[in-house]
Amino acid sequence: MENVKIFIENRKGNPEVEFKLEEILKGCKLSFFDNIDRESGVRGIYPEKDNVAVLSVGQLDLVVRDASSLPYSLPNGIELYALLNKEGAPVGKNDELKKYWAVLGKSGLKDIAVKFSGYDERAKWGKVVLAGFGPGDPSLLTRKAEFNLYKADQIFYDDLTNHEYLDKFCGQKIYVGKRKGRHKFDQELINNMLYQAALEGKWVVRLKGGDPLIFGRGAEEYHFLARRFITSEIIPGVTSAFAAAADAVIPFTERSMASSVAFLSGHDLSKLKIPQADTLVFYMGASMQQDLAMRIVDEGWHKNTPVAIVHNASSKDRKIYRGSLRELITEGSGLPSPAIIIVGKTAAAYHHQSNKWLYTGVSVNDWEAEENMVHNPLIRINAFTPKKHVFSNLNKYNRIVFTSRHAVIHFFKELFAAGKDARDLSGIVVDCIGSHTAGALKNYGLVVKPLTGEESASAMARYYSDNNVSGVRILIPGSERGNQFLADTLKKAGNWVEQQTLYAIEKNTAIVKQDLSKFSGVVFTSPKTVEVFYDVYGHIPAHLQIKCRGSQTAQKLNELSLKSVKIGA
Ligand code: SAH
Repeated sequence: MENVKIFIENRKGNPEVEFKLEEILKGCKLSFFDNIDRESGVRGIYPEKDNVAVLSVGQLDLVVRDASSLPYSLPNGIELYALLNKEGAPVGKNDELKKYWAVLGKSGLKDIAVKFSGYDERAKWGKVVLAGFGPGDPSLLTRKAEFNLYKADQIFYDDLTNHEYLDKFCGQKIYVGKRKGRHKFDQELINNMLYQAALEGKWVVRLKGGDPLIFGRGAEEYHFLARRFITSEIIPGVTSAFAAAADAVIPFTERSMASSVAFLSGHDLSKLKIPQADTLVFYMGASMQQDLAMRIVDEGWHKNTPVAIVHNASSKDRKIYRGSLRELITEGSGLPSPAIIIVGKTAAAYHHQSNKWLYTGVSVNDWEAEENMVHNPLIRINAFTPKKHVFSNLNKYNRIVFTSRHAVIHFFKELFAAGKDARDLSGIVVDCIGSHTAGALKNYGLVVKPLTGEESASAMARYYSDNNVSGVRILIPGSERGNQFLADTLKKAGNWVEQQTLYAIEKNTAIVKQDLSKFSGVVFTSPKTVEVFYDVYGHIPAHLQIKCRGSQTAQKLNELSLKSVKIGA
């Protein structure tokens, strides 16, 4: 380049800049400008417009200005060719860039670059490599990260990094772990430590757990440095979610089950938005796992959705929990931080592969989210027309006792048919059994806490006698014969009881007989499902696992199979 048009900010006050440029660009014809308007004929560019922009439209070749006032990032097509020392510049830690003149020009001016290379102060600086350490197992480190660790003068590491592994590297190790609650201060301190090390010419490796850019604030560190013209580079790492997936053999995007996966932070539930995705993967959620699970259910996820939690993924002492949202809510996993929480059908894929369950109830509501549940109802519900007076004169009852979900559904069906609604129940105590019945009541606007945890008529009868319920007018809507024991107990205690049959549970007339050898388990939802199962299949093959709802169902199983059965959720 023979003729070089150079704009110098504050040219008059800094004559030494011109001399310096003449020395650097020896052999070129230089024209200097300090007032673009007057001398270059270019209008209104400085100070109203950023003079860096001038370069991009080609009126000047180089712009020299105070390095601390440059925009970040530089406009496309503009390159910083050098930072030149200012004479007598102020020395202060926070305004490091005030010490330099920045020389900017259009990108790609090779001969200019060569001429400035020997004068650029940046040549004395080091480099910061932000490298992902991976989830903990050092053998998951990339070769590129390891190469940089060997090369490093200083290695900054924090809590999630396996620090014994670092012993083999010669560089100075500096711990910059963050204690909870001091994030802001610490992050700024870390940024400045990296910056100072680079200014001193050191090759710096900043190790970040997992991948530097996944919930890692790696980008903040990168931009802090890049804004100050420190060369920095990001090396990706294996994020802990991927290690957790590998440990628990959970394919986030298992074909036919999930085509999307979302990575979320479980750190602050008030900020949590759950996107539409098939698999949810939570970082930083271990300390609030139960609240988190409740929140996911509140957002419409089924309680039976599988959950897996992997603590210390990739390490020898890793632990894996598997359950459902329901189980996590009621029992917790017992696994502390650090842990990855995976929610979605694929979280159980490992368990249930070729693992079909036969569901014998009418509705799949309860276990439907479980993988491989095959719905094959053995029973059907036959609705009964109720006695007229029940719904025309509800006032005569003090109490209504619901003993099943179907009782609720059929009761309200008849209530609506009689031209009434939930308001006509005002003043009447409403009791229910178990969470399924309570759930059904909620659909009709009645929030009722189940009287007993155990879902059985005998537990309910026990409750009433323990609480001396007597002299009350009670309506028990429900199935044919279903509530006889409860009704008899209440009557004996001095209550007036009316049973209203609203439906009968009957054998399904259209059962498709299954090859049970292809199933690993069966779900019974009522005594009748057990009865019909024996009717259709003769016995329960030994290889089948059993889940059943309600103590009466378990009792029926015990009667028919002489097997001891554990009551499921
Ligand atoms: N950048 C990191 C995440 C940092 S956030 C990454 O890509 O993995 C910190 C969270 O990461 C922890 O709360 C935990 O949820 C998760 N985590 C980190 N290491 C883990 C490990 N070995 N096992 C399980 N979870 C881990």
